[in-house]
Amino acid sequence: MTPLIPEPVYDYEIALLVRAYKNALLSISAELSRLDLTAMSRANSRAALAEVAAILHGLNDESAAWVDRYIPKAATDGVARTIVSLGAASTLEDADKIVKFNRINREFVASAVADTQADLLAVTQNVDRRVKLAVRQATADSMRANLTRGINGNRTLNADILQRMKKTLGGAVDTGIIDAAGRRWKPEVYVNMVTRTKMASTQREAAVNEAVGRGAYYGVISRHNAIDKCRGYEGMIVKLTPDARGDYRYFGDLPRNEIFHPNCRHVITPIRDPKLLEQ
Ligand SMILES: [Zn+2]
Repeated sequence: MTPLIPEPVYDYEIALLVRAYKNALLSISAELSRLDLTAMSRANSRAALAEVAAILHGLNDESAAWVDRYIPKAATDGVARTIVSLGAASTLEDADKIVKFNRINREFVASAVADTQADLLAVTQNVDRRVKLAVRQATADSMRANLTRGINGNRTLNADILQRMKKTLGGAVDTGIIDAAGRRWKPEVYVNMVTRTKMASTQREAAVNEAVGRGAYYGVISRHNAIDKCRGYEGMIVKLTPDARGDYRYFGDLPRNEIFHPNCRHVITPIRDPKLLEQ
């Protein structure tokens, strides 16, 4: 039977980061809503953009610290699960004490940290670009409207123009990122998905690297009665390296739109001898 080792859950950690993004985006919205749209000048739009830049800078620092702390933690969890599943420790607590990243894992964790940093940085860069564009657009609209005010006897800004400026500024924060598959995500939903997926893949890959380093070349995919396409893979025995013997599929070749997809919670538990499990 499959050894029952608790599976890692990162809901709390991910919620911390998602909250940081939500708060930063709310602060940016608040900053933009304080702009006096009827009398915008280059000077006050510059001041607002400086505030926005400071908020995004703080967010980047916070998310870099998060990645530095939690991506290695996911790798540690993966290594600890491997240590327990291969019988070198009896509990995860005991395994945690002897976790040490082997050479493949040291390199792997460094690149997982860098990848995740880059993904999150893309989110703030996207917000930054959109907010700058929106503020410039609104400033130009405001200045042009003020220049032509009086031509038709209007003392105040045209309501349609004001409405359009509000929409442009509001949309700048709300419009998210478009992923490789062309799907559009709100920033905080995207951050949630990206970090959940990276934590899971880091855990999985680190577990496999540790297993292979210990001479265990097979694994079992966890089961929690999934209702999506993962269901067909639950309990499946896989190879952890394409060179392993036997008629099993290599985990790296499994279709990512079916198993280990974004937000997937399945893990691989390494084993030495698939024959024992099959009996
Ligand atoms: Zn899954």
